[in-house]
Amino acid sequence: MSFELENLPYAKNALEPYISEKTLEFHYGKHHRTYVENLNKLIAGTKFENMSLEEIIKETAGKAEYTGIFNNAAQAWNHAFFWKCMKQGGGKPKGEMLARIEKDFGSYKKFHDEFKNAAVTQFGSGWAWLVEKDGKLAVMKTSNADTPLAHGLKALLTVDVWEHAYYLDYQNRRADFVEAFLTHLANYQK
Ligand code: MN
Repeated sequence: MSFELENLPYAKNALEPYISEKTLEFHYGKHHRTYVENLNKLIAGTKFENMSLEEIIKETAGKAEYTGIFNNAAQAWNHAFFWKCMKQGGGKPKGEMLARIEKDFGSYKKFHDEFKNAAVTQFGSGWAWLVEKDGKLAVMKTSNADTPLAHGLKALLTVDVWEHAYYLDYQNRRADFVEAFLTHLANYQK
């Protein structure tokens, strides 16, 4: 069995002007596709061949002999999740999610600032996340391909802060990209 690149949940120009069609052509069409294709090559004929993506991530996390498989499986999962974390007309959460954020962070603004700070201060490539930890919401950041799933945590929202996620549209202005994500794109209703 091999994994397929899932379709984007919207057209490639749906997130403009905050993320351009050009960025999605490269980020989804080249970067994400390559992770899926590399994973398929690496697991062919191995014990991982018939596992789900989630099982492969849990089985390979932290094991030096499986670094290549972990990196590609986790990036395949992270990207598929990231696309679902955005929508046209997204932004501040509403309803139950807003109430949970206000309860666990004190206010939406405190969550916004903490998430943005995690995204901006992640040194080098990685991801910022809203996760559920012991029934409470928390912000975390991960390096490279690392993912909350590998730490037994449930991911609720993520933003990709690898340079390939924003460089064509924002160059080195990562903070502006993260602000646009939180204010205009974030999708909490998945
Ligand atoms: Mn990426």
